[in-house]
Amino acid sequence: MTTGKFQSAGQPVEILVFVDLAEGELDDYGKGILSEASRLAKTLAVQWSVLSFAGDQDEGIAQMAAYGVEKLTLIDGPEDTTDSLELQGRLIALAVSEKGASLLLLPHNDLGGSLAPLLAAELNSALFTEAIAYGIEEGALKLTSQILGNQVAEAKTWDGRMPLVVTVDPRILSSVVLPSVQPGKVQVENWQPSVATVAGRTRILERIPADPQTVDVSEAEVMVSAGLGCSAEGFAQVEELTRLLNASVGVTRPAYDLGYTDFERMVGQTGKTVAPRFYLALGISGSMHHIGGIKDSKRIVSVNIDPKAPIIANSDEAFVADLREVMPLLIERLKSQTRADEATGGAA
Ligand SMILES: Cc1cc2nc3c(=O)[nH]c(=O)nc-3n(C[C@H](O)[C@H](O)[C@H](O)COP(=O)(O)OP(=O)(O)OC[C@H]3O[C@@H](n4cnc5c(N)ncnc54)[C@H](O)[C@@H]3O)c2cc1C
Repeated sequence: MTTGKFQSAGQPVEILVFVDLAEGELDDYGKGILSEASRLAKTLAVQWSVLSFAGDQDEGIAQMAAYGVEKLTLIDGPEDTTDSLELQGRLIALAVSEKGASLLLLPHNDLGGSLAPLLAAELNSALFTEAIAYGIEEGALKLTSQILGNQVAEAKTWDGRMPLVVTVDPRILSSVVLPSVQPGKVQVENWQPSVATVAGRTRILERIPADPQTVDVSEAEVMVSAGLGCSAEGFAQVEELTRLLNASVGVTRPAYDLGYTDFERMVGQTGKTVAPRFYLALGISGSMHHIGGIKDSKRIVSVNIDPKAPIIANSDEAFVADLREVMPLLIERLKSQTRADEATGGAA
């Protein structure tokens, strides 16, 4: 036994992390899951490497070096692999088995969340989804997730006796670049399945981006939320602002109580937990019940008339201003920007 290394079936655990390079570059999920993989590998004192599908992705591979990736396996499947989830699952499972990896890590985005159960079935492994924390406890890997509308934390342990597929909650994925790593050292291996794989029964015909107006707020990328500082008329302006910004609308509980919008758009302890790239809080005081639901946002900007409102201290950037004055100006500014963009074909 190699001391200190976490074991599975008598062998040190090998972590494989699946990264989707469909756009040729690392997206935020890719960057985040690489950071998490390196952190998990350190916790378990084991090796890790990356699995992806072959394609036009030199840029993405070059970016990986900064995240400490030393080894990348590119799955060379049939041309239409990315159109079939089942085929992708089968190929990844084959590669994982052949590589002898016992822990497969994926981000819990649309693709990772859909692939994970398929992979667990193919690999006959345990499955843990939407992990928010992990650590070693009594010789086992303890994984934690949030359940029952994020009100309860649930923990499970993995002792390494069978393979494990884990998806990581996007809210905890932050892209930490490892400063000590010398870029340009990713060793790339092309891997072809040794057995014939057949496409599944389902195929992806078209990829339709989510509509920010209807997407679940927990998956929103950009959010504008209104509190009691917005009147009913002010809320109509907030909705107009979200359309102009291509953002999703949210509300505080009192704003929901006033009937501004549906329950699913309420953010906070009773409402949903959100983690957008950008959260604009308009006329929101910033009670702990609301802050608890937005603290994972990458950037919080607020507008409030009261310089002592708690939201100010909880914002990356705060403006002390009256929304009745700000909103018409902001909307007009965005409209004229849109007009300028249309006139110049987006070059303005
Ligand atoms: C068990 C429990 C669970 C709860 N769950 C939630 C939850 O999930 N989500 C949630 O949001 N709340 C929740 N609450 C309620 C929470 O405690 C707060 O009461 C609520 O978040 C406050 O909402 P608000 O910021 O819209 O209103 P207020 O606290 O009234 O704040 C309004 C803000 O608007 C500002 N303002 C007023 N006029 C203007 C203007 N013209 N321009 C700019 N700013 C202006 C004011 O300065 C003030 O800061 C919960 C409470 C409890 C007890």
